[in-house]
Amino acid sequence: MAEELTRELPLLPLRDIIVFPYMAVPLFVGREKSIRALEEAMKESREVVLSAQMRAKTNDPGPDDIFPVGTVGTIVQLLRLNDGTVKVLVEGKHRVRIEKYTRDDSHFRVAVSALPIVTGEWSAIEEMMNAVVQLFGEYNALTKRVSGSVLERFGGNLPSDPEEVVGAVVAHLSLKLHEKQQILSVGDQHEQLRMLSDAIRAEIEILQVERKIRSRFKKQGDGNSSEKPPGEQMNQVQKELGGERDEFKNELDELEERIRRKKVSREAEDKLKREMKKLRMMSPMSAEATVVRNYIDWLVSMPWYDRSETSIDVKQAQEILDADHYGLDKPKERILEYLSVHSLVERLRGPVLCLVGPPGVGKTSLARSIAKSTNRRFVRVALGGVRDEAEIRGHRRTYIGAMPGKVAQSLKKVGTNNPVVLLDEIDKLSSDFRGDPSSALLEVLDPEQNGTFNDHYLDVDYDLSDVMFITTANNASQIPAPLRDRMEVIEIPGYTEFEKLHIARNHLLRRQLDENGLGAVDIQFSDAALRTLIGNYTREAGVRNLEREIASVCRKIAREVVTSGKEHGDIHYQVTPAMVVKFLGPERFQDERTETTDQVGMTNGLAWTMYGGVLLTSEVSIMPGNGKLTITGKLGDVMQESAQAAMTYTRSRALNLGLAPDFYQKIDIHVHFPEGGTPKDGPSAGITMATSLVSALTRIPVRRDVAMTGEITLRGRVLPIGGLKEKILAAHRAGVRTIFIPKDNEKDLRDVPRPIRRALTIIPVSHMDDVLCGALAHENAEAFAEKLKRPILPPDVRLREPVAVPAEGAPGGTDLAPATH
Ligand code: ADP
Repeated sequence: MAEELTRELPLLPLRDIIVFPYMAVPLFVGREKSIRALEEAMKESREVVLSAQMRAKTNDPGPDDIFPVGTVGTIVQLLRLNDGTVKVLVEGKHRVRIEKYTRDDSHFRVAVSALPIVTGEWSAIEEMMNAVVQLFGEYNALTKRVSGSVLERFGGNLPSDPEEVVGAVVAHLSLKLHEKQQILSVGDQHEQLRMLSDAIRAEIEILQVERKIRSRFKKQGDGNSSEKPPGEQMNQVQKELGGERDEFKNELDELEERIRRKKVSREAEDKLKREMKKLRMMSPMSAEATVVRNYIDWLVSMPWYDRSETSIDVKQAQEILDADHYGLDKPKERILEYLSVHSLVERLRGPVLCLVGPPGVGKTSLARSIAKSTNRRFVRVALGGVRDEAEIRGHRRTYIGAMPGKVAQSLKKVGTNNPVVLLDEIDKLSSDFRGDPSSALLEVLDPEQNGTFNDHYLDVDYDLSDVMFITTANNASQIPAPLRDRMEVIEIPGYTEFEKLHIARNHLLRRQLDENGLGAVDIQFSDAALRTLIGNYTREAGVRNLEREIASVCRKIAREVVTSGKEHGDIHYQVTPAMVVKFLGPERFQDERTETTDQVGMTNGLAWTMYGGVLLTSEVSIMPGNGKLTITGKLGDVMQESAQAAMTYTRSRALNLGLAPDFYQKIDIHVHFPEGGTPKDGPSAGITMATSLVSALTRIPVRRDVAMTGEITLRGRVLPIGGLKEKILAAHRAGVRTIFIPKDNEKDLRDVPRPIRRALTIIPVSHMDDVLCGALAHENAEAFAEKLKRPILPPDVRLREPVAVPAEGAPGGTDLAPATH
């Protein structure tokens, strides 16, 4: 900030308050001189130097009465009150040193220079910031003055400017003015944070002692400690600190006993001895003692040799998997193969299972069943949003906020060294400058390395080789490649309505009735009621929301049962769709398709989102203009490119379609995706946009019972897309009858459940012309096809019948679209 070096600004001396950068503070200003300083600031850049008087009582301070370091603040709001005083809201910007008073008559004006800021190594600063946030959390838990954690204010992450942490915390501490001023004046950011953490620590200690004394006095019936003369209180504090020592000694003896009884690794044992020795020499109230105590506690609590007697009986495993899950034949089969292999080898080696599918399809529940059938305990580790290597592998134990990573935490929680650890949402890992969590995970999963896993906090080797790791992901392609290479992917696509009905009836209902204390009440859900729940209250590939809605119906019933006062045996419920609506309020989803007639310019596309497939309508409207192409809806750049490609194709076909060659120069085109959603695969809307575009230009409507997916090239070739299976399930759910898919995706049809394939007409295409021949509701299909020089494809009659799909496992299929170019 070179231009800041010699700025001249008005000065506002403050009484009894210090404003830090990033603080917004309301000030009441009464002194004439100060009001004039503010007025001048308002005339200029609204900036004013805020610096505290050394003594609040001084009424007319001179330069020597004002601290030489202050903060430049911006006046956000200025209000003149009736009594002549002024209320201002100022926001601290940056710290400055007052070099010279250039004016001291009607008001102060000062020349200031930016306070030199020393930025040290980022990791050290970050560690300090963490410590401050953590300590402030503890402090806050004692005072309950501030709601929520500081971190929440930064959106969950540490800010990039440490001064922001200082600004957010310092105002809440009851520090003396000169202490705050001292913190304000330190230019070294690490040092400043350290001072702040020391200050919070000191406050915590005082609060803790105070609290004890208060409860002691209460017990003695002496009333509030604040009524005690100060001397006596002080004595009490001294006494208390003495008692604290005795207590500490007892605690240490207990700890020693725990260590003696627990079997830990050799290395851990040495560590424990050393740390205990250190601890005995520390002052019990010191922050360092807390750090060491926590560390010892962690080491003692880890399951070093505690384990479950595992067994793998494949037949029994199958029974458990079947009892807990409907369908899922393929995943179950793969899991049983996996378990069979493991029953033959002693150590867990080889690839790690990765269950891939949308939320609520039973990934977690399958993993639980695996644990149950191998007699291991189960623990889940959520990886979504983990960006920092330290979250996996722990923070080094240098500062008070440090903790072991998620892997070690989960083991402590589960209490055995051979559980099933489910690493959930491994595709949601990300990485930033703090190191790559996926490389830490790689080490965790690698049988060559995980026998000596070293958590940074624990700082001793821990043997993970008996842990059975299972991972889950929504999207396998998002898993970092080196990790994916270690995994055996098992895909779970999502359920059809029919399967959901089964799952609801045979699994979800039973569980929810029991959980809501309705196990003994006669409650029947009709199929229609379940269908209503599935179709009109949820929209998902899995059954998670369905389970939630069932739970909410059960709760409503439970309430009626309780208020009726009848015996459970006397109550009979037959839940109908009407009752569902009564309990849950108006239906949340209408049938996915709202259009009941063929529309011009509107085409059903199929998108692949995190929640499985969805129907994504593209709408094109055309108005007079000069060639602008606008796209709206939540879509990225990829969609722009696709739209351009669709446009180029259409222009190349202008003559065949009966359009003027320069048609695009006189119109503006607007492409819109009303469904919003956030598709993952932008380009797959290419042929949908092209169809809408041609329909809008030729005024031929698009068949409403048709949906499609495919990327388009400039020349109209149709390229393959991802997520075919999910898209086809979505189309089926929405009641679509005919689907155009890229010819190159034909092989993926194998994964689509057979009943669905049978219910749909699936047409593989390799060129956009074929899509137009089949998807537009032509009056004269033959003439249209003739114009495009394509076979009439497919004729209406055949459209209603299923086309041949390749047999399971067999590549290829009926080629309905012989390419003509
Ligand atoms: P995910 O981990 O894939 O998000 P969950 O395992 O949490 O899904 O499943 C959500 C709920 O649905 C659980 O209560 C689970 O038991 C149930 N569930 C899912 N699939 C099935 C199935 N095929 N059979 C029985 N219950 C199922």
